[in-house]
Amino acid sequence: MSPKLADRTAEFERSGIRQIMDLALAYPDVIHLEIGEPNFVTPSHILEAVHVALKDADRLKTTKYSPSAGLPALRDAAAERVSSLYGVEAGRDNILVTQGSTAGLTLAVASVVDPGSDVMIPDPGWASYVAIVRAQGAREVRYRTRQELGFVPSLEDLESAVTPRTRAIIVNSPNNPTGAVYPREAVEAIYQFARRHDLWIISDESYEQLVFDGTHVSPLSLDTDGRVIQLYSFSKGYAMTGFRIGYNYAPEPVLAAMAKFQEPYALCPNTVSQYAALAALKGPQQCVSDMAASYRRRRDVALGVLREYGLYRYTPAGAFYLLVDVSSLEEDGYQLARRLIAERRVAVSPGEAFGPSGKGFVRVSLATAEDQLVEGLRRIALEVTRKAA
Ligand code: PLP
Repeated sequence: MSPKLADRTAEFERSGIRQIMDLALAYPDVIHLEIGEPNFVTPSHILEAVHVALKDADRLKTTKYSPSAGLPALRDAAAERVSSLYGVEAGRDNILVTQGSTAGLTLAVASVVDPGSDVMIPDPGWASYVAIVRAQGAREVRYRTRQELGFVPSLEDLESAVTPRTRAIIVNSPNNPTGAVYPREAVEAIYQFARRHDLWIISDESYEQLVFDGTHVSPLSLDTDGRVIQLYSFSKGYAMTGFRIGYNYAPEPVLAAMAKFQEPYALCPNTVSQYAALAALKGPQQCVSDMAASYRRRRDVALGVLREYGLYRYTPAGAFYLLVDVSSLEEDGYQLARRLIAERRVAVSPGEAFGPSGKGFVRVSLATAEDQLVEGLRRIALEVTRKAA
């Protein structure tokens, strides 16, 4: 018999979304609304820049290791973007290039949280936060966001979740899975809450470019005492999921700690992807607005379908997700998701995959072709209202 596995492996479950994806693959005619990935190809000028960087590999060292914290030109471009967005003075030493915001989160949590500490995460919230926190020997404590409050966290729900061991709060606006974009007052309240309890704010900005209504407010724009770490991704806004590339902004001492942790995790980020990211930051931004406009159009169409069936509850203001209220079925979300695949040929993510407050919802992704989205939503609506297909 082989030696024993590490105890920590028992603390992880596979992402519920991935389980449903695997099941859906067995049915070739399923409409996929479970996947949180843009259905667009990466904009062509970015792909072209990658070709150029690869053709010139000898001079540019495109196929070599990069510095641990990333290519200086990319760190500078990201620093310039963060400075101009939030009116802060960010420089190269405030930016770490990461292998996407998933790695960015891991490096942030590893740098500011000790084993045995607690980290607040949104409920419902992105499924991987739990594993990211537990991988550092810390524990997640969930703060609720409620449909009746537009899925924006209230001070009461934050205060009732915080513990004496809490060291950080993960904030995610625009939010996966709710699509909530937190208004300025809410972000200010979170910032003041974090100050009162002396917490780090780890702001997951993966969807910052996908805002349909209102304005995105980043905690960094309010930070007066260096407690905010922000994680950026090229995956969603630029449709670059497979490149696995993003960057973290942090105050210099935190950045230096995260750069140290990058080495045992990845040594350095992927150099080819860094050339793609540089082209994304330096190139035209119209592609981002065009894709965001498509998601917005699909959101409106999706809400129209829900209204038709009496299932409209709230309007997501950003990201590319929508929670559909299926509480009338009083069925476990995983069971419902499996049944929707087998009987209606539509795949959704069970709300429970995002935390206990996701119960009674399924998440659909708007990053899907419009005709598929409409047909898929009709199938869900028929199930919820229990009419024959
Ligand atoms: N954060 C949130 C809220 C997400 O929804 C996702 C992906 O779905 C990520 C982070 C991971 O993004 P990346 O591809 O940059 O690792």
